[in-house]
Amino acid sequence: MNIAKNRGGSNMESICVMQGDGIGKEIIKEAIKYIKKMCEIYNKNIELKKAYIGGEAIDKFNTPLPEESLNIIRGCKAVLLGAVGGYKWDNVEAEKRPEQGLLRLRKELNCYANLRPINIYDELKELSPLKERILKNNIDILIVRELTGGIYFGERGRFEVDGKIKAFDVEEYYDYEIKRICKIAFEYARKRRKKITLVDKANVLESSKLFREIAKEMALKYEDVKLEFMYVDNASMQIIKNPSYFDVILTNNIFGDILSDEASVLTGSIGILPSSSIGDVNIYEPIHGSAPDIQGQNKANPIGMIICSALMLEECFDFKNAFRMTNEIIKKILKSNYKTIDLKDKEEDIVVKTSEFGDLVINYLNNINLNDN
Ligand code: NAD
Repeated sequence: MNIAKNRGGSNMESICVMQGDGIGKEIIKEAIKYIKKMCEIYNKNIELKKAYIGGEAIDKFNTPLPEESLNIIRGCKAVLLGAVGGYKWDNVEAEKRPEQGLLRLRKELNCYANLRPINIYDELKELSPLKERILKNNIDILIVRELTGGIYFGERGRFEVDGKIKAFDVEEYYDYEIKRICKIAFEYARKRRKKITLVDKANVLESSKLFREIAKEMALKYEDVKLEFMYVDNASMQIIKNPSYFDVILTNNIFGDILSDEASVLTGSIGILPSSSIGDVNIYEPIHGSAPDIQGQNKANPIGMIICSALMLEECFDFKNAFRMTNEIIKKILKSNYKTIDLKDKEEDIVVKTSEFGDLVINYLNNINLNDN
């Protein structure tokens, strides 16, 4: 294991680590501890290269995503990102805000597919707002959201007609953008329970109709995967009423944005959910923000960040079973009632700090035998 700033010329595989702001710094520390230990266990060498994004990049380079950072990323196989934003930068001009760095990063790396797995740990079921009878069915959803097209990137503006002001935002998709996100959904569905629900508004929107046509055509090549359709209004109800119905949810940028936040609430805490964005270089980041209300207090839940790291090691660096193994470790820790403060629910819960939770993961890893996995 070798942690170094970008030195160029190295043949070693690298991860670009962008801690960002607020609790990003605290949870990334735990991810680095975890990655170091995993490299030891799997006998692999990976170089970690730090790069700046968000508020800390504004302070140092006067921009939320400096060229220096993009240059570092170009030599890396994946990006591991904490979170960006904070009170300090709330009033800077719109295009220089920390979050703009994140949007530009996704665009620059062509990260067109955002994957968000939604699972509920048995050990945390009581924190979920869902009723017990709904929770007793296995909830295991993968949301595949198109990330670089649609209404967030379409033409927008305002004009005046007959003294009235009109504003517009255009939802637009090229066929190639739809094809590539459909392919991701079908490939993932194949590795899971082989069902895709395409969520759209095809009763009204032309772009949704094109989504359906392309998905139907692709389904002919994936005969083992069942493709079905659901309007977004119905889907937003079914995610609450019957979440175990879903396997892969495939959807456009704006519907995915809203539905994935809705689904994340089912799990009990925003701190436990990972996400990955697939592109020229994949980005792995927890779904939460920089949580300025708890920053610097060693209170943040590092589970989402550690699970992101596991996904990254497995998908980009061939650490076999890293995700399943790490998930099992997290379950064991939660079962022993060790929890960060956001997960405290019962009398017997033992509240641990961010760094202590990270240490517990390392303790379990110290006793792992890869042959058992
Ligand atoms: P947030 O996700 O940062 O926080 C929402 C609530 O959840 C807060 O009460 C926070 O304490 C809690 N929380 C979040 N992550 C937690 C964790 N790991 N452990 C325990 N509790 C956790 O959302 P917000 O408050 O709306 O935004 C704060 C800042 O983060 C803003 O500047 C916003 O723009 C930015 N943001 C960044 C990202 C990102 O980097 N991907 C995403 C969302 C928001």
